[in-house]
Amino acid sequence: MTRKPRWTTVSPEEIKKWEKNRVEIECAFCRGKGKDPFQLLSKLSDCQVCLGKGKLKISGPAVKCNFCAGKGIDPYTTSRLTCPACGGAGMVTGIEPSKKCANCDGTGVYPRRPHPVPCPKCKGQGVVPK
Ligand SMILES: [Zn+2]
Ligand SMILES: [Zn+2]
Ligand SMILES: [Zn+2]
Repeated sequence: MTRKPRWTTVSPEEIKKWEKNRVEIECAFCRGKGKDPFQLLSKLSDCQVCLGKGKLKISGPAVKCNFCAGKGIDPYTTSRLTCPACGGAGMVTGIEPSKKCANCDGTGVYPRRPHPVPCPKCKGQGVVPK
């Protein structure tokens, strides 16, 4: 078995496949409006996640982010921060095949003070590659 380093040159076929798998999703953080929902940055009121586009592209298959339940907002802080697991997109690239993450027992949550954070092993999704 040959073990390739993680970030070697990607073949054109792989890039093509990756491009084909790209899916457009509505930005969860601003609900597709392109504006900062909380207007924390009053001068730059464009949504920081999609940069005002209202849409984002991620590689498919897109699945709802487990940590924020697809809302794009960190559920454990002041609820004005982007979800640390999906970056505010509300969707993440699904893992297939996957199994339950043993580190967090499938919850995706790592109990830490002052507030829980996404499980470092499964990045908040509760599943890891099989
Ligand atoms: Zn947005
Ligand atoms: Zn999320
Ligand atoms: Zn986990």
